[in-house]
Amino acid sequence: MATNYDAIIIGAGHNGLVTAAYLAKAGYRVLVLERRDLVGGCCVTEELWPGFKVSTAAYVNSLLRPEIIRDLDLKSYGFEMLPRSPSSFTPYQDGRYLMMGPDQQMTLKEIAKFSTRDAENYPKYEAMLTRVADFLEPMLVQTPPDPFSNRIGDLWKVAKTGWGFRGLGRDVATDAVEIMTGAAKPILDRWFESDELKATIATDAVIGAFAPPSHPGTAYVLFHHVMGECNGVRGVWGYVRGGMGTISNSIASAAKKHGAEIRTKAEVGRILVKGGAVVGVALKDGTEFRAPRVVSGADANVTFVKLMEAKELPPDFLAAVKRIDYASATVKINVAVSEPPQFKCLPGQGIGPQHHGTMHVCPSMDYIERAYDDAKYGKTATNPMLECTMATALDSTLAPPGQHILSMFIQYAPYELKGTTWDVERDKFADRCFDILEEYAPGFKASVLHRMVIAPPDMERLWGITGGNIMQGAMNLSSMASFRPVAGYANYRTPVRGLYMCGAATHPGGGVMGACGLNAAREILRDG
Ligand SMILES: Cc1cc2nc3c(=O)[nH]c(=O)nc-3n(C[C@H](O)[C@H](O)[C@H](O)COP(=O)(O)OP(=O)(O)OC[C@H]3O[C@@H](n4cnc5c(N)ncnc54)[C@H](O)[C@@H]3O)c2cc1C
Repeated sequence: MATNYDAIIIGAGHNGLVTAAYLAKAGYRVLVLERRDLVGGCCVTEELWPGFKVSTAAYVNSLLRPEIIRDLDLKSYGFEMLPRSPSSFTPYQDGRYLMMGPDQQMTLKEIAKFSTRDAENYPKYEAMLTRVADFLEPMLVQTPPDPFSNRIGDLWKVAKTGWGFRGLGRDVATDAVEIMTGAAKPILDRWFESDELKATIATDAVIGAFAPPSHPGTAYVLFHHVMGECNGVRGVWGYVRGGMGTISNSIASAAKKHGAEIRTKAEVGRILVKGGAVVGVALKDGTEFRAPRVVSGADANVTFVKLMEAKELPPDFLAAVKRIDYASATVKINVAVSEPPQFKCLPGQGIGPQHHGTMHVCPSMDYIERAYDDAKYGKTATNPMLECTMATALDSTLAPPGQHILSMFIQYAPYELKGTTWDVERDKFADRCFDILEEYAPGFKASVLHRMVIAPPDMERLWGITGGNIMQGAMNLSSMASFRPVAGYANYRTPVRGLYMCGAATHPGGGVMGACGLNAAREILRDG
């Protein structure tokens, strides 16, 4: 039976939930439809094995916008950040290690073990990033202007951005352009001499991207990862008590408190359009819901290619959607272990500082480049880059006493394999990743109780993200800001009247930020 709402949101990803909460708070009758049996999309906690509560996809937070935490009073619904200090630990086979984190004195002492020059440069490098961030960060919660439109509002915003850019001065502006368009490697090469330090920093430049640090666009990915904050401290990443699902659940609770209705196991099969305007949606089972506004939190391919008919969209728009880059080379392995991995270079028992942050297996810049080279030719990396985190080091609510969850985020392993399939390779690749970690932390393999291996096609199946791309589309300059999801439609509106986008496919892109959902809600309310 058709029911009437003011707005229907497709997908209860955290962005869809943010849009739902703001619209409901403004008095709209809102319905959220989610295909899975839980809310959160890629930001969830799931009890994969009895007693083990796992952040199945996203595993650390920093980007969630402080205004959303405040406006929706998320702390009153259980949202709590657990800052990581140290935040990063990189072991080496020669017995050394590099530990880094928000404690600057500790970090500089650690860097000096590898290069005193780099220890001197590191605060200057951070200051440069901060100056650029001060300019770019406010744009995260602004609607990008369309530089090619003649609308006064767009022209004004372009002029304002240009003026602000000019105000940076020649030096900072040059840094900003390089960060927005360039590769991470030459920037790191200029600032630092230690390969160990550069490789550890470079992991943030390639995370989720099918590109090595030498590729243009990776400097922005690096920067994207330093723009957040944890409890008010910029650049610090933390775990969320109860797992990442606490973020989505707390936003869902706020949305419900303001009157939004959320239905799970409700997969939208079709967006209904009449006379160039959206009129509602039909679920896969045929149930129809009517509303003058439909807001999609799914990616652009799902929204426009899967849920709509080509004749409902302008051909040039559809062609632009089909050009979006959904390449992915990321694998996630969720592991339950009976004890923390103990590293040869820092032997110990129980939990030590090395377990608080991301434990990298990424000894050099060439290691990352070679891992990429394999994937470039359709193979899983022979020596993949591993990023391991153990949220149970700071959050005892996630696993039975004494036991732990290890999240392994791995690159590179492409969606499309040449001459083989993921059904053949999935476990072989996971075994290889385990062998590599075992070389650094003997005994790790014997500690494994359970594992869940998620290859790019599994991500597509589980979370509905095209190509398994964790950002709902590549994050390079040609698909950012005014060009995200496609040029001319970066203001959360689409060619169909009443149909909006609100997920990571829109500006400012992927990550658990909520900014896409917040910006979309503002534009929808502006249209009235
Ligand atoms: C493995 C992995 C690790 C990551 N790690 C991190 C991290 O540590 N930190 C971080 O900040 N970011 C991380 N990210 C990125 C981040 O999780 C995503 O960019 C972000 O969660 C996207 O949120 P969203 O709401 O825009 O979209 P999504 O989370 O993709 O939500 C879209 C929702 O729409 C639903 N949907 C799709 N089609 C339909 C339909 N037809 N009908 C109904 N519902 C539908 C989906 O089921 C989903 O719930 C990671 C992502 C992945 C996949």
